[in-house]
Amino acid sequence: MDEMVIRDEVRRLPAYRFAHHDQPVKLDQNEAPDDAPELARAVAERVAAAALNRYPGLHPVELERAIAARHGWPEDGVVVANGSNVLIQALVVAAGLGRSVLTVAPTFAVYASQARLLGADLVEVPLGPGFALPEDGLVAALADRSGVAFLADPAAPTGNALDSAGLARFARAAHATGGWLTAIDEAYAEYAGYDHLDLARELSSVVVLRTLSKAAGLAGARLGYLLAHPDLAAHLRKVLLPFCVGSLQVAAGLAVLERPDLVAARVDAARRERVRVAAALRELPGVTVHDSVTNFLLFTVDDPAAVHAGLLARGVVVRRQDHLAGLAGCLRVSVGLPAENDAFLTSLADVLAHEVAARG
Ligand SMILES: *Cc1c(COP(=O)(O)O)cnc(C)c1O
Repeated sequence: MDEMVIRDEVRRLPAYRFAHHDQPVKLDQNEAPDDAPELARAVAERVAAAALNRYPGLHPVELERAIAARHGWPEDGVVVANGSNVLIQALVVAAGLGRSVLTVAPTFAVYASQARLLGADLVEVPLGPGFALPEDGLVAALADRSGVAFLADPAAPTGNALDSAGLARFARAAHATGGWLTAIDEAYAEYAGYDHLDLARELSSVVVLRTLSKAAGLAGARLGYLLAHPDLAAHLRKVLLPFCVGSLQVAAGLAVLERPDLVAARVDAARRERVRVAAALRELPGVTVHDSVTNFLLFTVDDPAAVHAGLLARGVVVRRQDHLAGLAGCLRVSVGLPAENDAFLTSLADVLAHEVAARG
């Protein structure tokens, strides 16, 4: 193939970094650890009733309505897509293309990859000590530019809560320029127990991104949404392809949104397990655990490659993060079912003991 048929930006972009592993204890993608049986049944019933010969709605109005009710948000300010990743791309197309994409580093990889893909000017401000929001650096980067700023709060893949007051000050400064859209990615908000919806109500240039892939347990269905000022939402809908959310997705989404009690129960379980796993990790010599308000934990070890491989050999999949700036030695583990977490902790202790023995 003549490589020149592909745009420079695409040729230069490395493939998304993800290695699939088939080991039984899967703790590498921050998913809900299982399908809640009651939810699975509710989804199956709705899916069975879907008319697959017909196109879905141009936009999934019924789902938008259910999401609006859940958050007390205007219906016409809800935009749904096949995962929040798609909405990140739509935001770059709508506000970053030919302009700038501003974010922090390290953070969720999709903001930077979409900026590069679409040839936007990418500005990455390093996180402060303790993975803190670099408020001054972010505000300084607004000057003489316009575009879209992406901030994940809770932060990912670090798992910490950002300073809400600092984030609000940044968003107000961005709003005051008249040329910046701020997208707050709240993929893990359910686990953290706080959100920035008030800020998005106050500022028409702030949108909140949510996903049904994590707490709602629908990673396989691919559903994400954003809450925005209705005028902004109308523009973002133009960027999405028509009929992009299918009937099967709508059925699954509606079934889950009807059972907030089941989602809340799983979130509670994940929070309890996070506390337990973090405490156990802290007891292991050679491991540093970072604070998390999410369903995953970032931890530092001396030899992340060896620990990752050792865990794989014992049937446990975690995610390497040590390739990211500022995350030398870091691995990320999702909070799973209690038995999975036990398998992880036992395996990790075993791997570390072997490492120490091997070093003499
Ligand atoms: C998991 C995750 C998402 C979810 O993306 P989807 O496309 O909705 O599955 C978004 N943002 C962050 C920071 C995440 O960790």
